[in-house]
Amino acid sequence: MTDSPHCPWCPTQPDTPEHLLLHCSRHLSHRAALLHSLPTLIDLLGGCTNTNQAFKSLNLTRTFLQKTNQLHRI
Ligand SMILES: [Zn+2]
Repeated sequence: MTDSPHCPWCPTQPDTPEHLLLHCSRHLSHRAALLHSLPTLIDLLGGCTNTNQAFKSLNLTRTFLQKTNQLHRI
């Protein structure tokens, strides 16, 4: 995601999409809104088999990345 192997806000955590989307404390409020909008966590992780729901999940994830100004890191 960046040249550094660690999250810019969590120096001991790896800079991975999983950390950014699911664990980084910096984006807690935006993540809460994202997870509240998704039917299940599986949708966020790509396990959705319903095409319409998959597009909705992708759009919600994109919105999360835009609101957190982190779209460029993915
Ligand atoms: Zn972090």
